[in-house]
Amino acid sequence: MTSSDRPNLYDLAPSQLQATLSGIVSPPFRARQIADWMHSRGAASFDAMSNLPRELRVQLASEFTLDFPQVVERTPPASDGSQKYLFVLRDGNRIESVYMPMRDRTSVCLSSQAGCAVGCTFCVTGFFGAGRNLTPSEMLGQFFTVQHDHEVPFEEMNVVFMGMGEPLLNLEHLVATLDILYMNIAPKRITVSTSGIIPGVEELAKLDRRPNLAVSVNAPDQKRREEIMPITKKYPLTELMDTLRRYPAERGREITIEYVLLAGYNDSVKDAVALARLIRGLNAKVNAIPFNEDANLPRWMERPSDEAIDAFADTLVREGAHVTVRRSKGREIAAACGQLRGKSERKRPQRSVDSAVRVEPAEIERDLMYGERR
Ligand code: SAH
Ligand code: SF4
Repeated sequence: MTSSDRPNLYDLAPSQLQATLSGIVSPPFRARQIADWMHSRGAASFDAMSNLPRELRVQLASEFTLDFPQVVERTPPASDGSQKYLFVLRDGNRIESVYMPMRDRTSVCLSSQAGCAVGCTFCVTGFFGAGRNLTPSEMLGQFFTVQHDHEVPFEEMNVVFMGMGEPLLNLEHLVATLDILYMNIAPKRITVSTSGIIPGVEELAKLDRRPNLAVSVNAPDQKRREEIMPITKKYPLTELMDTLRRYPAERGREITIEYVLLAGYNDSVKDAVALARLIRGLNAKVNAIPFNEDANLPRWMERPSDEAIDAFADTLVREGAHVTVRRSKGREIAAACGQLRGKSERKRPQRSVDSAVRVEPAEIERDLMYGERR
């Protein structure tokens, strides 16, 4: 069998894994050892499972794989230590992940699809168009590769599905991946970011164990949201907000409202007031993300000045909202996954995109917090 014919054991839910192994592995504790090597240690080969008999390792390798996506490129660490990873999948698709060390925790940003059909006009992944759903092994592979590289203890990790793709359009594989991540990482340490796929949000609401929810709102009204996020025609803003109001509240958790700030478009004081009104009554905090420029995106889209960003955030605070502003470039590359891949895959002639992934010097790193509830 070639490796592409063999099932990847990381694609199986924990119960399926036990059922699959019980047919071929005995005594039963061996199956538990294998699951432990995988889910708690992220073993990328059967050979690494040193407490298994050699013949069993050889037999397993002839029937299954534990392949992870291959790293093609790692950017040098940015001023804040963030590092972006470009992976190639078995079918040649390329995806990105980001490692983001923070004061006392480390976040890993994962891709959920090898592209995105949602087509937001400010997003490089959207610009390159639809891509297939990633399998659990491809999502877990991103996670374990970054975790191993930096030797991050599970208890210090946050996982965010904010990379390439729309996780709620890959719900089945997302849930299988979450179930495995939960073995080491608490649901409150995992965040799923969506462009507002209402049926997906409703499905998440039904889960026994729910990750944190982040919703990319990005505009304070239907008209502008339709312009930059065409999915709004299908899932209107007011219906989305109603869905969020019904979303089961959990103690100590808030929904994150992501808002990409585009100079002169959605960053005025009036827009901040409108956004505060839109989310009033919702247990939520706003994460304002200054637009990250890229040569593949419309030229009129620009990052606002620091003064405009401050005025926007201050207004939200005055209106009673909880706000975080991302000022660190390293962190922003995470909010604009797809740009590293975009460097090598140009869809049409454009000016150079190299500057889009340039690692910025330390002096621009500022991570401001405004009235964030703890
Ligand atoms: N599809 C999901 C998750 C991936 S996008 C979603 O849309 O939420 C993750 C975040 O990156 C979103 O909040 C999106 O609005 C933001 N983003 C996309 N392109 C960006 C850019 N050029 N600059 C800043 N943020 C961007
Ligand atoms: Fe897709 Fe999210 Fe990019 Fe929109 S912002 S195109 S939903 S990845």
